[in-house]
Amino acid sequence: MARARCDQGRRFHRIAALSCLDLHYHHRVSPRQKPDVPLVAAPAVLERLLRHYPTPDTELVYRSPFELLIATVLSAQSTDKRVNETTPTLFARFPDAAALAAADPADVEPLIHATGFFRVKAKAIITLSQRLVQDHAGQVPADMDVLTTLPGVGRKTANVVLGHALGVPGLPVDRHVLRVTERIGLTHETAPEAVERDLCEAVPAADWTRMSDALILHGRRICRPKPLCDVCEVADVCRYPFKTGGLAPLDLAAKPVARRARRTKAVTR
Ligand code: SF4
Repeated sequence: MARARCDQGRRFHRIAALSCLDLHYHHRVSPRQKPDVPLVAAPAVLERLLRHYPTPDTELVYRSPFELLIATVLSAQSTDKRVNETTPTLFARFPDAAALAAADPADVEPLIHATGFFRVKAKAIITLSQRLVQDHAGQVPADMDVLTTLPGVGRKTANVVLGHALGVPGLPVDRHVLRVTERIGLTHETAPEAVERDLCEAVPAADWTRMSDALILHGRRICRPKPLCDVCEVADVCRYPFKTGGLAPLDLAAKPVARRARRTKAVTR
C-alpha cells in the first residue's frame, strides 16, 4: 500500500517536472521573451499571407486622401464596418476640409454617433480640417513629419493615409499587427514604432503597405486573440508556442473566466 502511494508520488513529480520543462521550452521559443532567438523571415511570411489574401487592402471605404484621413480618425475605438456605415452621410454633408472646418460640432455629432466617442471625435475632425485649411490649402500633406504635426494624427494614421491614398510607402502598425508579428516571431519589439522599424527593414518599401494590410486581415480573421492555427497559411513558419488547432489558447483563456464566474457566484450567494 505504502509502496503504491510512493510510486504514485514519483509519477506525480515526474509529470510536474515534464510540465516545467515544457513551459521552459515554450518560454525559450517565444521570440519576444528571448531576443537571441532568430526572427522569422518577413518575406516568407508575406508570401504565405498573399496566398490567402492576394490583394490585401484597407477595409475603410474612401474616395480621397481627406476622406481616408477622417475615416481613420473615426475608426479609433470603433470598427471599419461601423465607420463605413457612417462616412457616406458625413461626407455628403461635409465633402471636404473647408466644409468640415466650418461645421458646428452639434451638426457633426449625430452623424458620427455610431462610431463612439462622438463628441471628442467631432471636435477632433473639425480641428483637423481647420488645420488642413489654414496650413495646407485644404489638402492632406504627403509627408510623415508634416502629417504627424496635425492634431489627432499619429504615425499609424499617417501611415494608413500615406500608403493607401498618397502613394507614399507606409507600414501602419495597429493592435493586430502587434499581436500577429509577436506570435509569428517577426520582431522582438513591442512598441509600435520599433515594430514598424523592424518590418520596414525586413521587406522592400514597395511591400510595406500590403505587408501591414495582410497582417491586419490575418489578425482579424485567423490569428485572432484566440487563433485558428489549424487553418493558418503561416503555421509552418510561425513560432507561436501554443499552436494546437486553436484549442490550447481557448482552454487557457477559459480558466480565469471559470474562476471569475465561481468567485462572482460565491459573492452573489
Ligand atoms: S499559426 Fe496560429 S499563432 Fe501563428 S500566425 Fe497562424 S494563427 Fe497566428
